[in-house]
Amino acid sequence: MTEKVVIIGSGPAGLTAAIYAARAGLEPLMIEGMERGGQLMITTDVENYPGFPDGIMGPELMEQIRKQAERFGTRIISSNVTKVDFSERPFTINVGSDEYRGEAVIISTGASARWLGVPGEDTLRGFGVSACATCDGFFFRDKELVVVGGGDSAMEEALFLTKFASKVTVVHRRDSFRASTIMAERVLDHPKIEVIWNSAVEEIVGDGVVTGVVLRDTVTDETTPLATDGVFVAIGHTPNTPVFQGHLDLDDAGYILTQPGTTLTSVEGVFAAGDVTDKIYRQAVTAAGMGCQAALDAERFLDHIG
Ligand code: NAP
Repeated sequence: MTEKVVIIGSGPAGLTAAIYAARAGLEPLMIEGMERGGQLMITTDVENYPGFPDGIMGPELMEQIRKQAERFGTRIISSNVTKVDFSERPFTINVGSDEYRGEAVIISTGASARWLGVPGEDTLRGFGVSACATCDGFFFRDKELVVVGGGDSAMEEALFLTKFASKVTVVHRRDSFRASTIMAERVLDHPKIEVIWNSAVEEIVGDGVVTGVVLRDTVTDETTPLATDGVFVAIGHTPNTPVFQGHLDLDDAGYILTQPGTTLTSVEGVFAAGDVTDKIYRQAVTAAGMGCQAALDAERFLDHIG
C-alpha cells in the first residue's frame, strides 16, 4: 500500500503537519520515533506557546497536539526510521524490516541539544539545567547563572539571560570565543556578564535543584567550586539527519536545506519542517508553523501530480 503522506518525527512540526494533512484528507502515516514528542518532552513549563495564558508543561502540550492529530485520523508508528530511499516515487521508508511507501514525505526529526555528559547534568535537567534560555530564562529572575560554550549560541543565551539574571558567568574551555566578533564583543562589554576562560564544567551540583558547578581549569587541571542557581548548556545542536545523508542536500552542519520561504527540499515531494532545517529560531511555535507549511506544500504537490 502506498501512503499519500508519510511524516517522520513527532515534535510540534511533525504533529502540526499531521493535523493539516489529516484535515485535508491525506490520511497521514506518522513514524514518530523513539523520542516521541521531541525536545518539549524534556522541558518543564512552556509559557511562550500561544493559547496557554497560565503556561503548560512541555509533555502535556505535546500530548494535546498528538491527540489533535489523531482526532483527524493520523496513524502513528512508534519506531525510528532506519533507512530511506528517495531516488524514485513512491519513496520508501524503512523501519527495521518493515517498509512503508509514500507519494510525499515530510521530515520533522528535529535537532538534539548537545550535552556535556558530566555528573548531575541528567538528574538536574529541568531543575536548573537547561539548553534553552528562551524557554527557561524567565524562571531565573535575579538569580546567578552559568552559560557553557563559546559559540554564537552561548553568546546569544548569555545576553538573553541578562534580562532576568542578576549575573551571568560564561564558562568556556579555551581562551578565545568561537562566536562572531560582534556577538563576542557584546558579551565582553556587558556589565552583568563575567567570562571564565580555559575552564570546563566538570560536575553540576545540587540537591533537587542546581546549587553550583565544579570547574576544572583546562590549563592547570585545578578544580574550583562555583555557586550558581542554573546552568545553561549552549555547546551546539545536532540535527537528527544521519539517516537522510546522501538522500537529500544537507548543509555543512547536517541541517536539511530547503528552498527559501518554503519547505521544499532538494528532492521533489520531500519536505522538511522544524528544527531539522532551522538552526536560527528553534521554537515550538515556529516549528509548528513550518509543519503547517509542509503539509500545505505536500498537499499542493500531490494535487499537482494527480
Ligand atoms: P558552535 O559554533 O559549534 O559552538 C559550540 C561551542 O561550544 C564552541 O565554543 C565549543 O568550544 C563549545 N563546546 C563544544 N563542545 C563542548 C564541550 N563538550 N564542552 C565545552 N564546550 C564545548 O555552535 P553554536 O554556538 O550552537 O552555533 C552553531 C551555528 O549556528 C554557528 O554557525 C553559529 O554561527 C550559528 N548561530 C548563529 C547565531 C546568530 O547569528 N545569532 C546564533 C546562534 C547560532 P570550542 O570553541 O573550543 O570548539
